[in-house]
Amino acid sequence: MIQKKITRLPKDPGPAAWNSILHPDEGYPTLEQDTTADWVIVGAGWAGLAAARRLTQLLPESDKIVVLEASRIAEGPAGRNSGFMIDLPHELNSDSYTGSNDRDLNSILLNRHAIDFAEQTAMEYDMPKAVFSRSCKVTGASTQQGIQHILSYAKHLAEIGEAFSVKNAGEMTAMTGSSFYIKGLQTEGGAMVQPAAFIRRCARGLSQRVSIYENTPVVELTSGDLHTLRTPKGAVKSKHIILAVNGHIQSFGFFPKRLLHVFTYASMTRKLTSSELSKLGGQSDWGILPADPMGTTVRKVSNYAGSGDRIIIRNLATLNQSLEAPQADMRRAKAMQDQSFKDRFPMLQGVDMEHRWGGRLCLSLNSMPAFGEIEERIWSACCQNGLGTVKGTLSGMAAAEQAVLGQSEWLNQFLEHDQPSKLPPEPFLSIGANMTMRWKQWQAGKEL
Ligand SMILES: Cc1cc2nc3c(=O)[nH]c(=O)nc-3n(C[C@H](O)[C@H](O)[C@H](O)COP(=O)(O)OP(=O)(O)OC[C@H]3O[C@@H](n4cnc5c(N)ncnc54)[C@H](O)[C@@H]3O)c2cc1C
Repeated sequence: MIQKKITRLPKDPGPAAWNSILHPDEGYPTLEQDTTADWVIVGAGWAGLAAARRLTQLLPESDKIVVLEASRIAEGPAGRNSGFMIDLPHELNSDSYTGSNDRDLNSILLNRHAIDFAEQTAMEYDMPKAVFSRSCKVTGASTQQGIQHILSYAKHLAEIGEAFSVKNAGEMTAMTGSSFYIKGLQTEGGAMVQPAAFIRRCARGLSQRVSIYENTPVVELTSGDLHTLRTPKGAVKSKHIILAVNGHIQSFGFFPKRLLHVFTYASMTRKLTSSELSKLGGQSDWGILPADPMGTTVRKVSNYAGSGDRIIIRNLATLNQSLEAPQADMRRAKAMQDQSFKDRFPMLQGVDMEHRWGGRLCLSLNSMPAFGEIEERIWSACCQNGLGTVKGTLSGMAAAEQAVLGQSEWLNQFLEHDQPSKLPPEPFLSIGANMTMRWKQWQAGKEL
């Protein structure tokens, strides 16, 4: 038997802007009594909700499924991200392609499986295109160094038989309205989401069948014939548990000294006026990923349900093993993002940022997930290694399938991974990683 007191609860700096710009949601109750369930999922992010939905497909109606979320739905990293669901490997620098083509192909296949699942979720819960749409992925370069990244990535895509097209400066301007990008690389197979709206609608759809509790952090876990999850005002006893808390799996005492807790940061403009929109030009909705992995992600979204036309900028990554980001990192992000915005959109001088925020990612040194049955009938679907909209969906689906079916064709492919490798000791880890990231950010130069 294990008894674990949860040492830390999630804290995300700044507002979850994608959620703040939506109309208020009626929300879900807080657990305020002792209850029982057949299945409990802890965490209502991409992994938790994918696990819940897959369980509803696999289990009989009579099985009771409960989701416990520490915060409010869509207020955590799940609703704070840039909304790119990417099927292809993230890194553009061919130096990082140490693995075989087979490994890349396997990973692409699995990523597409997760994106298909998200698409089916969007269809089942009637989500409009502004919330989920299949779209191409465009990577933009603004320097010769960025172009080299794009070309080496294109070479790798050709090797594995993936289709792509190269966009010239004029085509990039026609898309973004900005003359900042001098080359682009377009691939098919991804999707774009309004992350908070997707998570909210997914939870609302699931709530017909699943009991969801918000503002209900799990503060103690005791294993047994029936496991017990204690929350500040109640408890749930359940035979099966899926922990979908990403980096906070470490706060539950699992995977110690194996997980990297990285914060990344974003800013969102106020609503753009119609005269600003005509000054900007370009398409109404687009997203650009940076050619340099340490560069800036930019999205332009058009008005959805009164939330306005806006631009969202993301950059800066910091390692914060305490799972909290200090104000100094938020200030650094603000300065960087204001500069990135100015460089790209000189025609939008005077447009302020209405929201600034940060959020957590969980990575491992060898890019492996913290996945599997970690105690009898307790599964971990954590450590998404950055691309959590896709990898989170995948690990949630995989945990549900492993728990109910034991195996399935794609699951066996997913399970072909090692455990996250051990980290170097502190303070060397944090000093070394933050210095390396600063160096790489400096090297990214104008791509920032
Ligand atoms: C600014 C930013 C931009 C990003 N852009 C992208 C992008 O474009 N594409 C992409 O794929 N990824 C992106 N990400 C990463 C992505 O958001 C995460 O990887 C993803 O949210 C992970 O999903 P998850 O479900 O595993 O974890 P989370 O979304 O973190 O969900 C875990 C949930 O568990 C809850 N929880 C934790 N502890 C407890 C507890 N004790 N009791 C109850 N609940 C608990 C948390 O409150 C949280 O809601 C970005 C992240 C940030 C911050």
